Amino acid sequence: MVTVQMSPEVQRMLGPEGMAQARREAQNADCATCTKKITGRANVVVTGAKSMQVRVWFTHPACKASTVTELRKPSRNPTDTMRMSSLPPLPGGHGRAVLVAQLESPQYYADTPQTELTDRLAPYLLSQGFEPIGDTATEPPLLDRWVAVPSQVPGTETGGSLLTILDDNAEVFFTGPVFTPARWRRTALETGECTLYYGPTELDPASRDFPTQNRLLENAVRDGRLLAARVPCMDRATLQDTAARE
Ligand SMILES: [Zn+2]
Repeated sequence: MVTVQMSPEVQRMLGPEGMAQARREAQNADCATCTKKITGRANVVVTGAKSMQVRVWFTHPACKASTVTELRKPSRNPTDTMRMSSLPPLPGGHGRAVLVAQLESPQYYADTPQTELTDRLAPYLLSQGFEPIGDTATEPPLLDRWVAVPSQVPGTETGGSLLTILDDNAEVFFTGPVFTPARWRRTALETGECTLYYGPTELDPASRDFPTQNRLLENAVRDGRLLAARVPCMDRATLQDTAARE
């Protein structure tokens, strides 16, 4: 039995009938913030109060407070809030060096069916050729017009790179310091590709505990939470050579 919590504002907005409906729907709801199943207590979040499209969402108490709110417009620079983890090839995986991107606090579009929020980056990545994946052994599609460029920066700690990922319009998808252990760099640069996963995970970019990180990634993949694609990976010198030849 899930108990719902509603702020006074939410209660006023929904009225007695809406509140009863929210209580019923909460019994079988996933959290709008972290996408995991809700048990115990659920906060009720209402969006679209100023429009015809009033929608009710449920969140874990720790994920978001009960409130009437508007969904944020997509921000102009998604890289501001993106976290990037790197993993050497997974045991039993497809053999590529792995990158895992996730938004610090996912932002969602509202214009999707009720109780199903769409992460604002997901439609864009799907249009670029990313695909939902169900296991880590299958290679996702190659996006040959994307590129990931790790560069060693003097003064950064050992194993650290400045990583830049550009999409097929040469727009920056991500740029920032990323922990790239020697085995990651070797695999990515020798094969010239890495696998980029995107979606909610609990990976910690600072962790060196690869078995745990692998398990978190595999769980997220099995739950169908992630999109993936293979992305060409090269160092700056190779990128410049390639650009000079074109
Ligand atoms: Zn949650």
